Amino acid sequence: MPEQLTTRELRARNRSRVLRELVLSQESTRAGLALALALSPATITNVLADLEAEGLVEDRGSVPSDGGRPIVKVGIRAGGAYVLGADVGEKGVAVELFDLAMTRVDREFRDAATRGANPAEIATALQAAVDAILGRNTAIRDRVVGLGLGLPGIVEDAGGSHAGHGVVLYAQSLGWPAVHLDELVDVPGLQVLADNGAKALAAAEIWFGSVRGVDDAVVALLGRGVGLGLVSSGRLLRGARSSAGEWGHTKIAADGRVCRCGGRGCLEAHVGSDALIAAWRERGGEPDGSGWRALDALVAAADRGDAAAVAVVDEALGTLALSLANLVNLTNPQKVVIGGWVGLRLMRSRRDELEARIREASLQRPGSQFELELCQFEGDSVALGAALLPLEKLIETPVVAVSSRA
Ligand SMILES: [Zn+2]
Repeated sequence: MPEQLTTRELRARNRSRVLRELVLSQESTRAGLALALALSPATITNVLADLEAEGLVEDRGSVPSDGGRPIVKVGIRAGGAYVLGADVGEKGVAVELFDLAMTRVDREFRDAATRGANPAEIATALQAAVDAILGRNTAIRDRVVGLGLGLPGIVEDAGGSHAGHGVVLYAQSLGWPAVHLDELVDVPGLQVLADNGAKALAAAEIWFGSVRGVDDAVVALLGRGVGLGLVSSGRLLRGARSSAGEWGHTKIAADGRVCRCGGRGCLEAHVGSDALIAAWRERGGEPDGSGWRALDALVAAADRGDAAAVAVVDEALGTLALSLANLVNLTNPQKVVIGGWVGLRLMRSRRDELEARIREASLQRPGSQFELELCQFEGDSVALGAALLPLEKLIETPVVAVSSRA
């Protein structure tokens, strides 16, 4: 049965579509928008008038056309609204401020007090970072429309949607109890939304990165934890209650390494950064700490032919290739996209080998139908992806009431 929309609903929907298109394209023309969205020029004119009244779009001057009237360009008004995104990790928090063109205009990082911090310490770091960034940007404070959080665990909304009130974080891997969103941060007048960090990263790739315009893809996040965004028919797969994509805790060995989640043989316990560095140490390597420098040293040592490092990296690559091949067989993606700091480092040294091993472990047909790519936003896009949550709200909901013109 065709959907019956009131004039008002239709107008709101058209507003959303035009605003989304302009955020994605940054600049267009009335004719270009009409063509892209299959709307009449008159509708585009009305919607743009509404969006101009909201302060979200602007005229960008005109260019001469072939003999006819000059063509007026319209674009997103970067300063019309701002969104905050936060990459909330177990060791610290990065909060980033974006304008409506989704250009990052400010950033604040706060370490948590201790390694493997508890939720209260992370909440303190998050609150301090948000307060600092808002404190520096008082002139635009009233145009900051919301804060999105990319969180290290399963993010569930009791209401059924993936954002809003009643949102709870289940970070089993960190040993945290269930954490309600309002225990993490509270900013008067600012809407707070949240999603899983790997899904946030995948959302950034869908909007602006390597998955833009791609219907079916897997976006793997390889860092200390291992996460996944599964893109199916252009949308992130969420499952019944949003935990779909917990790839890091799929089992790859019946009697494998103990995982932080309490299970055994999880992928994350074999290819997460802690696992790689621990394996190197067990084989006599002497990594410096547990972070980027240690992982970089491991892969560099393998590149030089150091036997212990070669063994660790080869094994990790093999495990990763099998797990990705399983995803290829399961989901038949057009793209397999690798992100996260461990993923980026492995791809820098071993891209071709990883690709060959994934294809070899896949069925021939799906194994020949994907492209392997790096994330467009090198490892640092969880905050951008999280900021898309309040951006989506802005796109869905007018800042000022939509007029009743049809
Ligand atoms: Zn696990």
